[in-house]
Amino acid sequence: MINIPDKSIIDCHVHLAALPDSNNGCLISSSMLKSPLFRFLLWKHKLSPKDPRAANRKYIQDLLGELRASRYVQQAVLLGMDGVYTNDGRLNHQATEFLISNDYVLQQAQAFPNEFLAGVSINPQRIDAIEELHRCAEAGATLVKILPNSQQFDPGHYRYQAFYRELARLGLPLLSHVGYEFSRMGKDQSAGDPNRLRTALEAGATVIAAHACSYGLMMYEKYYPTLLEFVNHYPNFYADISALTLPNRLGMLLKLRHHPEIFDRLIFGTDYPLSVFHLPMWGLADFSTIRKIMRTTNRFDRQYLVCKNLDLGFISLQSILKTTHTLAPPIPTPLLASTV
Ligand SMILES: [Zn+2]
Repeated sequence: MINIPDKSIIDCHVHLAALPDSNNGCLISSSMLKSPLFRFLLWKHKLSPKDPRAANRKYIQDLLGELRASRYVQQAVLLGMDGVYTNDGRLNHQATEFLISNDYVLQQAQAFPNEFLAGVSINPQRIDAIEELHRCAEAGATLVKILPNSQQFDPGHYRYQAFYRELARLGLPLLSHVGYEFSRMGKDQSAGDPNRLRTALEAGATVIAAHACSYGLMMYEKYYPTLLEFVNHYPNFYADISALTLPNRLGMLLKLRHHPEIFDRLIFGTDYPLSVFHLPMWGLADFSTIRKIMRTTNRFDRQYLVCKNLDLGFISLQSILKTTHTLAPPIPTPLLASTV
């Protein structure tokens, strides 16, 4: 276990959820509103879709409360969610089931700078992808999140090289979903193949593969060799440990705990608001440890304790932010001036 002082960890993978309130730039389709996942979220946080502003406020307050109560985690990167874009780079409203706008992410990060960091989302297929990247970087974004399966683009396509090179120059990590995507069925799941992240890695961008490249379909971890190969080949490759206690991903957690040589490439994350399970502990820890973890209802702390007690080491996002920001040359002012 890599030693991290108490209450200094950043959670690099926390979802910002919001209903459209006519002012926040967010979108949600009626089918998404009716989906079991979304209804579960509303139920769990006691949110009413009839009053979007109150629901959005409550989601933030719940998150702040849990984060402030955490013994180990200080800050959370709030993740936005960009939409689907047409081939000529325009937002495809019909195909976009939900969108959490970068403005809303940046606004929350600015409102609570001690707790939140901005994980903006930019689909590189959008016509203004590089301008949006500059705008978000100037507004203080910490990283850029993509979800290729749902956002319906191939992250390995050479047409996105300029976008990735710009991420590298700005020192902004790219956090990409990897593996099977459950939230919206029937999309091209091959977009979640981590091999498609080579384009970004070879362009020099720091890449964080979400869920440690776990495929997400129970114990079959088809991308496990890819994860180990990427760690060997790319010094700019990292993976987050979010959601690895879920029954469909714990196979990867149980494999990784035997690889201390890659712990300095694993970054702490939870995938909040998803639950953190104590299931992986059973059979591997004594009952008093399991009982302690069962009593820990704070999701940030439970994730920390499960990983720690399974001897899964990890680092916190700030250690790679320093590296990437130090290496990146300063942002030329004229470039930014043209985009504000
Ligand atoms: Zn997630």
